[in-house]
Amino acid sequence: MSRVLDGKWVRDQIQEQWKPRAASLSRQAGLAVVLVGNDPASQIYVRNKEQACQAMGIYSEKITPPDTITTDELLAIIHSLNQREEIDGILVQMPLPKQVDSRAVLLAIRPDKDVDGFHPINVGNLVANIPGPRPCTPSGIIELLKIYEIPMAGKHAVVIGRSDIVGKPMALLLLHENATVTVCHSKTPDLPAECRRADILVAAIGRPAFVTRDFIKPGATVVDVGINRLATPEEQAAIFGENKPRTVIGDVHPVQVVDAAGAYTPVPGGVGPLTIAMLMANTIKAAEAHTVGR
Ligand code: NDP
Repeated sequence: MSRVLDGKWVRDQIQEQWKPRAASLSRQAGLAVVLVGNDPASQIYVRNKEQACQAMGIYSEKITPPDTITTDELLAIIHSLNQREEIDGILVQMPLPKQVDSRAVLLAIRPDKDVDGFHPINVGNLVANIPGPRPCTPSGIIELLKIYEIPMAGKHAVVIGRSDIVGKPMALLLLHENATVTVCHSKTPDLPAECRRADILVAAIGRPAFVTRDFIKPGATVVDVGINRLATPEEQAAIFGENKPRTVIGDVHPVQVVDAAGAYTPVPGGVGPLTIAMLMANTIKAAEAHTVGR
């Protein structure tokens, strides 16, 4: 029977570790979240972030421009947040409306306030293993592996997915932990064979139950980043059986992983909670840098 890696428990550990650091700052840490438009999923994410700030003693501010906003108008909001001393972190909730130049917005955020770790300066710091904010989802996964004492050094890690927000930074963080890393993507031939070489398999694809038993080396640690929705009862029954309908599912087959893996993160309750915990940690770290000596 494989071990369940409980993301909520890890989140609680991370929060307990960072709360005293937030409390010992000379002023409250501050996070500004810019939420453009009315996308329901984004609204839920932002609400969760606000609640986490409250729990951690971080000041949070939500800025909600309409989805007709122009790039220049959004840049003006970022510039004003860049200048405010009490704001340590700026997060722009993605996706942005089509007319907005997302890259220009990303580049406008001051790198020391870029708590998502997406600014090219911080991407460079990650590549060179220089301290700086790291993308929250992959850094949360590293915390999870460390807390559960899953060895990374000398192990073979396979990451499926090469996005800028998950796959690539995940591969780099595993490399910095001295894993031997393979990055797979949609053009990788014989993906199951590549994955079967993994001691640690990270799936960040965006396809429901894509990783089946034949991708998993017996006893491997499987980390499921995916968050997908099953639209129809037929789709749900095909995976979970008739009696256990569930709509949210990861990239890993939730039934087959239980037999095949040595340890795995469930969906929900695995990687999801870690992302916000690391956002809080990045904000507190930025506040420490901004308040040192003040
Ligand atoms: P992207 O769509 O940006 O990237 C998906 C990656 O998967 C791409 O690199 C793509 O390859 C690869 N891929 C797609 N299809 C296949 C295939 N058939 N075989 C092999 N590789 C494939 O997604 P994200 O990285 O942003 O997110 C991935 C998943 O993680 C999503 O479900 C998302 O919702 C979830 N997520 C969860 C978070 C959390 O907090 N739990 C946070 C962020 C994301 P290619 O580059 O060749 O196209």
